[in-house]
Amino acid sequence: MKFNITNLARKNVKELVPYQSARKIGGQGNIWLNANESPISNQFILQENYFHRYPECQPKSLILRYANHVKISPDRILVTRGADEGIELLMRAFCEPRVDSIIYCPPTYDMYAVNANILGINVCNIPMLKNWQLDVQSIKKKSLGVKLIYICSPNNPTGNIINNKDIHLILNIFSNSSLVVVDEAYIEFCINNSLVSWLQSYPNLVILRTLSKAFALAGLRCGFLLADAEIIRILSTVIAPYPLPTPVSDIAYQALSKKNINIMENRVLELNSNKIWLINKLKALKCVLKVFKSDSNYILVRFLNSEKVFRLLWKKGIIVRNQNHKIYLNECIRISIGAFNECVELINILKLFT
Ligand SMILES: *Cc1c(COP(=O)(O)O)cnc(C)c1O
Repeated sequence: MKFNITNLARKNVKELVPYQSARKIGGQGNIWLNANESPISNQFILQENYFHRYPECQPKSLILRYANHVKISPDRILVTRGADEGIELLMRAFCEPRVDSIIYCPPTYDMYAVNANILGINVCNIPMLKNWQLDVQSIKKKSLGVKLIYICSPNNPTGNIINNKDIHLILNIFSNSSLVVVDEAYIEFCINNSLVSWLQSYPNLVILRTLSKAFALAGLRCGFLLADAEIIRILSTVIAPYPLPTPVSDIAYQALSKKNINIMENRVLELNSNKIWLINKLKALKCVLKVFKSDSNYILVRFLNSEKVFRLLWKKGIIVRNQNHKIYLNECIRISIGAFNECVELINILKLFT
């Protein structure tokens, strides 16, 4: 009998479908509004030019700069290979496969459930309420075996902030049993909503941050996990010995200089103003049913016929992200805020449609 390699794979791995992105499918775009990347970038030059030594596991100077940026103590920070690595590390450190669960509140960022499925950790699905806030009553009922509760705020793909009072409630209900992970990947676009100041009062709060979005460094793969020092200690027993390549921490360190943080903040202002322009133009189009409020660098839009809109834009080289398949998101497309000329081009093409 012929040797079948597929059978070697773990049972749950055989059932996995890889994370889909337009880049993987091979979209031929010239305007990429699908992955919430920054349309604008500044240029970096490596300061370090020799790479024969292994890097520091947790580069001290980089951590100090981030600590200074978020105003917390450096022993509460772990640097990771993007926020995505933080999402996974927490599961590897805190969840017993097939025994423990995470709470997942769709529609939200897929990677929480994707990672749990890869690791064989149970996913407890508790959809958001119709107003896209947490269903605290249902979350409250699930305490057995729940180790991690993932909350994305502003939520991807809906764009809204999650109510503080609900997060308060959940932190208190689960204060002795679970970590509450607040994913602040987009928080720089509405920085006053950050929960970083809560870290002092809640030892079970974990906050995820990234340089991929407002800092315009998606290609760098660098993120930060902020939490109680004991959580950081536990995670550092699980993280790879050399998770950050030397060029990554070199550039991340530069990106956190006073000057570059200022550039980031101006970029946020510019994108937020493009967002307001785009929302107003979209609302005037006949093919648009609803434009949802957004505190982030993307907007969720419900169209009369999202499939047709998606295909027209794709044909014209504008790549956006279809959300049609997700709970409550029928006929919805998520559009990242691009540079101003990209927003104009998007509207011009959508006008052809109406
Ligand atoms: C983009 C994104 C991430 C991933 O960030 P990386 O640092 O690029 O891994 C995490 N969470 C949410 C909600 C995101 O949208």
